Amino acid sequence: MNYKICLLPGDGIGPEVIACAEKVLRALPLDLEFTRAEIGFGAYERLGTPLPDSTLEKIRLSSATLFGSVTTPPAITGYFSPVVRMRQSLELFSNLRPCRSIPHSSSRAGIDMIIVRENTEGLYSGIERIEDDGNRAITERVITRKGSERIIRKAFDTARQTGRKSVHVVHKANVLRQTCGLFRTVALEVAKEYPDITMYEMLVDTCAMELVRAPEQFEVIVTTNLFGDILSDEACMFVGGLGVAASGNIGADAAVFEPVHGSAPPLVGTGKANPIATFLATAMMLDYLNEKESAERLRNAVETCIADNESTPDLGGNLTTSQVTERVIGKI
Ligand code: NAD
Ligand code: MN
Repeated sequence: MNYKICLLPGDGIGPEVIACAEKVLRALPLDLEFTRAEIGFGAYERLGTPLPDSTLEKIRLSSATLFGSVTTPPAITGYFSPVVRMRQSLELFSNLRPCRSIPHSSSRAGIDMIIVRENTEGLYSGIERIEDDGNRAITERVITRKGSERIIRKAFDTARQTGRKSVHVVHKANVLRQTCGLFRTVALEVAKEYPDITMYEMLVDTCAMELVRAPEQFEVIVTTNLFGDILSDEACMFVGGLGVAASGNIGADAAVFEPVHGSAPPLVGTGKANPIATFLATAMMLDYLNEKESAERLRNAVETCIADNESTPDLGGNLTTSQVTERVIGKI
């Protein structure tokens, strides 16, 4: 089958890791057509917007999109986070972040969870205002029945599809009685449709603690936007850190896969950026396209490299970004 892949290199180390991922994709037995689009601070400087409409259009017209990273400087008037805007504009409502043990001394063993984060509302609704002459700042936390229902369903479906037996619904409904209350109510309703999956409830602060104490207990975690952002960064530290953490933003008619890390300005041009997070995002993209065999081949190649200590400095190795890429291609 022929696929149109949209590449969004972005800023900082984004273009470096996306170029590596393109090489890896070309090494697999797939029929791919690539197109590139602009996003980020560089795009803003060149075109006056960090997220041109043409980028959204290219993503819509592609089978799937692979995104690097962007630099989002705070306090620039007229600037907005193109990542949050892209997720909202394309209704990429679910953010899937697998956290799985890697064959490396820095990784804890026995971890294999997927964090399913709501990606379009919650505290990242974008509804903010300043009152009282700048002395009172308000951000609205928006939770809808529709938004909660589709993300909770995604979590239970993901559990089923991956042979997992439980879902932890994480909230703070004892304090955020309205917003988390609605999220919890919807979760209890949806869970009834999945008698084969056990639903657990956990308060978000307890979850933060349990992720450190006993991360192996979790199979699937589903939660609201900000909580999911924080918990998934926390969880990835037990399994290799930002250099290997990947995620997928999946909606009804578009999907964007990306490494979890940002643009890492100090690493640009040093050869120290680990491309593996982007390779694992690429493998998630291939799963989404139902190219399971290529996805597995890529994941195996990456795991063998890690196990053989063929890695960048963040994993204790001494290879560069492009050397790791060559090794992965060799193992494919
Ligand atoms: P970052 O993820 O860029 O870096 C955090 C730490 O992880 C740094 O020590 C960095 O050196 C290291 N790191 C990141 N990627 C790595 C890789 N591939 N290999 C090895 N080490 C890696 O986060 P930050 O420093 O907080 O933010 C830098 C910029 O990135 C900011 O402008 C921020 O807004 C942006 N950002 C973008 C995204 C995104 O594009 N989705 C996500 C987070 C941050
Ligand atoms: Mn984050």
